[in-house]
Amino acid sequence: MLSFLGLALILLFSFFAYRNYARQRKLNAALQTERSKAIGQKVRAERSEAFKQQFLANMSHEIRTPMNAVSSITDILLNKEPRPDQVGYLEAISKSSATLLYIINDILDLSKIEAGKIDLEVIDFSLSDILNQVKDALAYKAEEKGLSLLIDKPDTVPDVVVGDPYRLTQILVNLGGNAVKFTERGSVELKVENGELKMKDNTVEVKFSIIDTGIGIPQDKLQTLFENFTQVNSSDTRKYGGTGLGLSISKKLIELHGGSISVYSVEGRGSTFSFRISYPVSSVQNLQQRIMQKEKMDGSILDGLRILIVDDNEYNRLVAEESLNLKAKVAISTAVNGQEAINMLKENEYDVILMDIQMPGIDGYEATRYIRDSMRSKVPIIALTASVLRTDLDKCRDAGMNSYIPKPFKAWQLISTIADVTGRKTVAAIPKPESLKKYIRNAENIAVTDMTYLGKFCEDDGVRMKKYITMYIEAVPGFKETIKEGIQNKDVENIALHIHSFKPKWMMMGMNTTRDLAVHIDALCKANNSSVYQQLERLMVQIDKSVDELKDKY
Ligand code: ADP
Repeated sequence: MLSFLGLALILLFSFFAYRNYARQRKLNAALQTERSKAIGQKVRAERSEAFKQQFLANMSHEIRTPMNAVSSITDILLNKEPRPDQVGYLEAISKSSATLLYIINDILDLSKIEAGKIDLEVIDFSLSDILNQVKDALAYKAEEKGLSLLIDKPDTVPDVVVGDPYRLTQILVNLGGNAVKFTERGSVELKVENGELKMKDNTVEVKFSIIDTGIGIPQDKLQTLFENFTQVNSSDTRKYGGTGLGLSISKKLIELHGGSISVYSVEGRGSTFSFRISYPVSSVQNLQQRIMQKEKMDGSILDGLRILIVDDNEYNRLVAEESLNLKAKVAISTAVNGQEAINMLKENEYDVILMDIQMPGIDGYEATRYIRDSMRSKVPIIALTASVLRTDLDKCRDAGMNSYIPKPFKAWQLISTIADVTGRKTVAAIPKPESLKKYIRNAENIAVTDMTYLGKFCEDDGVRMKKYITMYIEAVPGFKETIKEGIQNKDVENIALHIHSFKPKWMMMGMNTTRDLAVHIDALCKANNSSVYQQLERLMVQIDKSVDELKDKY
């Protein structure tokens, strides 16, 4: 009986043990399926992310480069005295290409931030300088709408801090630009205060507020405001333009700084966007030292170098060649594809090669690999690339390139990168990011004079040209004196009169920006608008610069 009971118990145990085992197996199998599903999903997500990146890289190359050519060539045509009926068309092309570049840059910026591919600069900068730059960038639009633009920065906030001035400007221009865009009357204020954390370990928390008296935002829209592609009304795009990306880019950039953003808004009354970022405090001496170093950067450090430029695009070759020839005494050769570059390198010696990536036939990667592996040459190679994605830059390095320059490039980028890879010492160059260029008008390296018109007018007769240039240079001191007097006596009528009579001289000297500014000042004088004095300061700066340029040339 006992043994029967024992047997039954063993059987019962075995049954339960088997049932548990079967259940566990089923569970494991289910887990396994889930796991492989998850792995599959992850692989697919990674693949789709890689595809997205590749797509964006291609898009940046395919659209940005020709778009830059369109806008530069349109500007050249606009400066060549087009017929009046052509001006409208050219301006429309110029505006549309600028808008397209703006959208492309926004999308690229967002994807770069999302992929964690933005490195913040760490340099000394002045908060007041940034606020003034942002004010300048917004002034034109604000004046057009009759808005007052105010800056409030008490001395209790340290002025020189360490961080990324370009990204801060980008955030402030985004938020300030929105404030101006969505305000019809009243004011826009950029306010800076000490945050709650104040000073700690020589770090200050700065609270920035952008306060407007505009249309405001409905409460139920505030939650989703910072999401990609969000606009409060679908009619906003038609009425105000924009991509619905500015706020989400700003929020992400602020978070990248370890900061936070918030918004307070009352419909019909206005909005306040506030954000906080902590910066280490620096000193005015440090800042001055950095500025002096930047100014010392001089193209002559490249003198004597033999440079090979490889690019299938004639326009790009010309821009690189001219930028370098203007700044340094270098010997430049050009090739239109990888094969030609290789052939030239077999016959000649170069100190550095600037290599485009996407070319028909042998592209930049392949040519570099050949130069490194088959020719065993160590000549420094710099990639010229429209892509800013890290995956592409890694590919450049893997192929054996030493560095890269993003397209479209500035002369200082060429100089500093070439100096770096050829061992000619240079001080660190300070880039202005792509997305900011459009906001910073009259950048210091853009010439205000252009001799094309005068050359045509004088049939390229140097003696006649010099006569007009001398006349202009000699007329400047008297003109400046009269304007200064006008400013002192607040005599806008007299200012307008003299500016008007000076306009033909600016036309002769090819100073189109100055002429446009003069037209704007004329209108401000007529409206007795007090911002005329600020614009007159800009005018004076341009005139001084024109004299320097003309004395340099002749
Ligand atoms: P957009 O390019 O459309 O300006 P943003 O992301 O910068 O994109 O802004 C998203 C939307 O938020 C805007 O279209 C607008 O509806 C609303 N918005 C942003 N700033 C303001 C503001 N200062 N006042 C009123 N509405 C605003």
